[in-house]
Amino acid sequence: IVLQPVNIGTFIPEVVGMVEQRAGVENIRIIQELQDGAPPVMSDPNQLQQVFLNLFNNAMYALKGKTGAEIRVRSLREGNDLVITVADNGCGITPEDMEKIYLPFFTTKPVGQGTGLGLSTVYGIIEGLGGRITVESEVNAGTVFTIRLPIGRT
Ligand code: ADP
Ligand code: MG
Repeated sequence: IVLQPVNIGTFIPEVVGMVEQRAGVENIRIIQELQDGAPPVMSDPNQLQQVFLNLFNNAMYALKGKTGAEIRVRSLREGNDLVITVADNGCGITPEDMEKIYLPFFTTKPVGQGTGLGLSTVYGIIEGLGGRITVESEVNAGTVFTIRLPIGRT
């Protein structure tokens, strides 16, 4: 892994650009609320890209067939952390599944549709970067993943 300063305010729009077309086809609106002038985080851009692609892909799946589907990405500085949230108003996660979502190979998707490796990879990457990931969800209301990354001295 190669750590370098990553400006989340420009990085997130690039990753959103990679899923924008699919989101458009599926009538999912992606809203970005990124704080201006936030300091960079020391990260590996490839790993960070994997993190957000996984979260966006999961959110889009959870939004299938939903009217008024939205993914809201926010970033803001909180002390020495950069906090990024990815929220969707999709199907949500049951309390039983919640305990297992970070386990490798745990999936609720039909065979061939999910490997169950996305969130375990995300979890490992965030831990490796010295960050934290948490999740809150309500069935039929939506899910919010919150990632905290330390603001590095650059
Ligand atoms: P996969 O996407 O291959 O199923 P993941 O590790 O990415 O594997 O996710 C594991 C499971 O967590 C999913 O199958 C789904 O049940 C649940 N999940 C993850 N993200 C969301 C989300 N945004 N909304 C609802 N459920 C989710
Ligand atoms: Mg996934």
